[in-house]
Order: sequence, then structure tokens, then C-alpha cells
Amino acid sequence: MGKLVVIRGAKLFDGRERILENSVVVVSPSGRIYDVGTEGSVEIPSNVDTLEIHAKGFTLMPGLIDAHMHLSGLRTGDVIKEPLLTPYETLVARSIKDLEALANAGFTTVVDAGGLIALGLKVAVEEGTIRGPRIVAAGPPLSQTFGHGDVHYLPLEYVDLRTSKLSNAFKGLICDGVEECRKAARYALRMGADFIKIFTTGGVMSQRDRPEHTQFTLDEIRAIVYEAQAAGRFVHAHAEGARGIVNALVGGVKVIAHADMIDEEGVELALEKDAVVVPTLAVSEHIVMYGRELGLPEWAMEKEAELIKYHVENVRRAYRRGVKLATGTDFWGGEKAFRHGDNAFEVVLFVERLGMSPIEALRSATSIAAEAAGLKEVGTIEKGKIADLILVEGDPTTDVRTLLSKDKIKLVMRDGKILKNLMSGQQ
Ligand SMILES: [Zn+2]
Repeated sequence: MGKLVVIRGAKLFDGRERILENSVVVVSPSGRIYDVGTEGSVEIPSNVDTLEIHAKGFTLMPGLIDAHMHLSGLRTGDVIKEPLLTPYETLVARSIKDLEALANAGFTTVVDAGGLIALGLKVAVEEGTIRGPRIVAAGPPLSQTFGHGDVHYLPLEYVDLRTSKLSNAFKGLICDGVEECRKAARYALRMGADFIKIFTTGGVMSQRDRPEHTQFTLDEIRAIVYEAQAAGRFVHAHAEGARGIVNALVGGVKVIAHADMIDEEGVELALEKDAVVVPTLAVSEHIVMYGRELGLPEWAMEKEAELIKYHVENVRRAYRRGVKLATGTDFWGGEKAFRHGDNAFEVVLFVERLGMSPIEALRSATSIAAEAAGLKEVGTIEKGKIADLILVEGDPTTDVRTLLSKDKIKLVMRDGKILKNLMSGQQ
């Protein structure tokens, strides 16, 4: 049995809009928030082994959530050779390091939007073998033949995990037609998928298609959504072109990733369906800044250079119209760019590129990102919720750049368990 934890004196942001000065938060040994309030208004059980943390001058907020990323173990931009030539176990070992870096950076939940490594590491985090954020995993993504999840320069049988003899990180399920799509969705669920990831448009990192290309038919999308919902899950779609975004939303997809070309119809549908958009601005910035140096294929660089011109503008319009946006980096791991641990960059871009207030950006990184992850019990600091909390030196509610300094992330708690604690001096 763990200890009762009492955190006193911090400025509290609850994950929605409430700010509480001089707060008291009590976390029960079961890992849930026992009470939240101010000094005197909070019930603190006595006769329990208690850890007191004095946090005056710090900000207490829900742990950060990256609602679209990949644990791939890759370290460069050479997405052609690196996954093929690196042993699978090496990719897994690097992903374990990436999870530790994410925990140290204040992330308590990550959504792996396609990849096999996350399925196994998720269990290792849950059982306590790895110190990291909670993983919500898609497992193998579903792509049509010649879709964004197909690897166009490899033999097709290398790409579908049901036929592949390769052990690299980017294998998915290739499916065409309603029946194959149903079966692929069920296959992903059988492997342990928490949600189903699909591609309804082409993209930057697929060789022979383009972001505006529409992929999967509406019937195929509907069949996959049906299978996900039948199993109590939801669908998260890579969707860049306007038509593919609309198809996904009409088909019942709940989370739209990238949304580069979201148009008026897409905005209306996202509002009507109460969908969440994860624009993944960070990866685009990094591709433009570091892609050439890190060896990204020329065809990817060309497409990104075009997209970046209107991506931010379109997403900003969606934000102004009231579409819910969640933070997700699409980082896949790296040493210079796309590095796990630097994921708070997306929060900064929500303020600096989209024009959000710091509080709005923090809401996108906590309660709204939790919604994109399909989690109801994290993302806010409320009585009875799971205790996923961070203490930050300084005030991210007025300056989100504070979150970029890992040494300012002083305490990280997931499920009530302390993953990082630099507060010992203040106890
Ligand atoms: Zn992605």
C-alpha cells in the first residue's frame, strides 16, 4: 500500500478552466484524487502514512497528454533504410528510453497512433517494469492497398504483418473492400488495440500518394467504425485532404489527425459530430527545419514544403469556429528532431501559431487530449479521478514555454505513482 500524498500551496489548473490559488490536493494510496480545494476546505484522512509536498510558487496541473505519436525507436529521418536495417529489439530498447524521457517531460499519457512496439510496452508500463506514461495504443494501422500505410517501394507481402517476415516497426494491415476491412479491424482488436487507426488520405511520408488523395471508401470507413464501436472502441484517422476528412467524419470517425486541408464542410461536420482534431503541427515544423539534414526522402520534403503554407491557416480557422483541438506531435523518436521528451513543443505551437491563450492550449493538452485518447478518468484534477499530475516550477498558465524545460517539471505522478520527484528539497 502506498502513501497518502498531500500537495499544498500550488497554483492549480484543473485541466478545464478553473484556477485555484494556494490549493490543496490529496491523493489516496489507491492512486485517485481524494479531495481538491483550498486550505481548510479539504478533508485529509488522519492516521495514514502521508507524504507532504509543499509547492508554493509551483503550478499543479494534470499530466500532459500527447494524443498522436509513435513509439518507433527510430532515430533519424531515413524512414526507408533505418526501420529495415535496425534490429527490432534495438527499436524496442530505444522506445523504453523514449518513454522515460516522456515521463521526465511531464507526459502521463501518450496515444500511439500506429505501431507494434506500443502494444507490448503498454503492458510493461502497466505492470511497473518501465517508468513511463500510460500508453493508449492503436497497434497495427489499417490502410488500403496503395494507401498511406502501405509502403509503396516494398513488396506488398512485406508490408502486411500477416504475411511479412520483416520485424520492423511500420507494419500494418492492408485491407480493401468492406469484408477485408472488417476482418482487419477485428485482427487489430485481437492484438490488443485500444482504438483503430486508419488512413483516409495519402500523406507526406508515403512515396507515391499525396495528402489530398482520398483513401478508403465511405463504406469501408463505416465498416471499420462499426467494428470499433461494436467492441467499445473508436476510430482515429490520418486525414489531410478535404474529401478524406469529410468521409472520415461522415463515416463516424471520432479523432481526425493532421487536418491540413480541412474546409468549411469539414469544420461543420467536426462541430456537428463533436469530433476532436489533432493537427500535429510539431512534426511539420521539424520536417521543414531538420528533414533534409536528417535524411528524409526528397519526395516527403517536397510535399511538406507545400502543405506547411496552408496547414496552420486551415487549423486556425477550425479553432476559431470552435472545433476541439488536442495536442499531438506525431513525433516518432529521434536525437535532434521528432525526439520524445520534446513533445510540449506542440503546446507552444498552439499558442504561437494558432493564437490560443495559454489556458486554452493547456486544456488542449490535458482534458481535450484525454478525450482524443478515449479516456474519461484522466486529463482533469477532480475528486475521484485518477491522479495524473505534474508540478511545474513557474507558471505555464501564463507562459507555456515553461513546459519545454524538463528541469522545471518537478514532480510527475501517474496513477498516483510518483514517476519523477525533484521536490525533495521542499518537503
Ligand atoms: Zn502519425
